[in-house]
Amino acid sequence: MARGNRALVTLECKECSERNYHTNKNKRTTPDKLEFSKYCPRCRHHTTHRETK
Ligand SMILES: [Zn+2]
Repeated sequence: MARGNRALVTLECKECSERNYHTNKNKRTTPDKLEFSKYCPRCRHHTTHRETK
């Protein structure tokens, strides 16, 4: 495992706030908040998921 600048990120649905996905990002190269269009099982369609803590 690489040390230092790798951060675990949780992605939550913007519509229902369900936390559906986890991913990694490099804090040094990706300082901005991440947003992905992902399928939300609670909304039962694709929604925007954004980075949370
Ligand atoms: Zn949702």
